[in-house]
Amino acid sequence: MKSVLLLFLFLFSFGAPKPAIVSSKPKNIILLIGDGMGLAQISAGYYANDQKINLEKFPVTGLVMTHSSSHLITDSAAGATAYACGCKTYNGAIGMNAKKKRCLTLLEAAEQHGLATGMVVTCSVTHATPAAFIAHVESRSASEDIARFFLETDIDLLIGGGLKFFNDRKTDTRNLYHELTQKGYSVSSFTEKKLPELTFLPTQPLVWFGAQEEPTTVAEGRDWLPFAAEMAPVFLRQRSAKGFFMMLEGSQIDWACHANEGPRAVQEVLDFNSAIGKILEFAQADGETLVIVTADHETGGLALEQGASPDSLDLAFNTKEHTAVFVPVFAYGPGSEMFSGIMDNTSIYEKMRVLLGF
Ligand code: MG
Ligand code: ZN
Repeated sequence: MKSVLLLFLFLFSFGAPKPAIVSSKPKNIILLIGDGMGLAQISAGYYANDQKINLEKFPVTGLVMTHSSSHLITDSAAGATAYACGCKTYNGAIGMNAKKKRCLTLLEAAEQHGLATGMVVTCSVTHATPAAFIAHVESRSASEDIARFFLETDIDLLIGGGLKFFNDRKTDTRNLYHELTQKGYSVSSFTEKKLPELTFLPTQPLVWFGAQEEPTTVAEGRDWLPFAAEMAPVFLRQRSAKGFFMMLEGSQIDWACHANEGPRAVQEVLDFNSAIGKILEFAQADGETLVIVTADHETGGLALEQGASPDSLDLAFNTKEHTAVFVPVFAYGPGSEMFSGIMDNTSIYEKMRVLLGF
């Protein structure tokens, strides 16, 4: 009887859920967010690009549930706050939980732990996705309010649009562009120099504005995301011996899908794909970097339908809004094995936090 009990205990202890075993931990994490990039957007990019996409190089894939605390269909603010803070919150919230209390973001935590931090986006740096990693405001529309928060952190690298929210403010008389310079940043914008013309001194944090407000589309000539993806991790690695956390966003996939413009969506996906390729090259050579690619939600209810010729694709949108379908997540590098299966968007944050040891 005693041995039966022991056998039972033995079996029970092995059957109980155990915490995931992490084979190795990354020193650096690069989170790549394709805003509005669902599986259909990725598939469209793949077929439009001679059946090639850099996401094929990721050994681990999973699926992410994107709903917010207030809606089945999230917006980018709640979606990014879930990744930044690990909490489900209401649509429109920037770095605030569902009770409208500030939540510490992973970027802020990384800073507190001595890691270098950076963001590269193809929208205004005050737009919902980047804002959620650094600012704490109740509403995503408060662009000038959001801009103030960049001065309250020590972010090492910032690339994106939104210059006017820093140097041409309506709600106060501050000139945040000058304040950044006074704080020791090397600050410049598209009106002075193109991104590749800058000198990247590891001794000085850097901000470059690619637009007055929102950067142009790829079709209109925006070409700096792949370059930024190439230089950013190299720059950040030199900024701290402890490692870095970086978020890079393909911001305009979402906008093309809101407009139901298929070819434009494909161009934005492929621009983001080029950036992913540069990041992967860095991670492969570096060996201590975890790369995670995901989306905050799908946009447009995109369907891939048969076009006029046997090998042509017809991109059919179902809505001008976001949808609630799960989005894929791809992981490469140390700790990547934690990102397989189906998970909530908040658990992406949780896994990153655990892997960084915070
Ligand atoms: Mg966004
Ligand atoms: Zn959107």
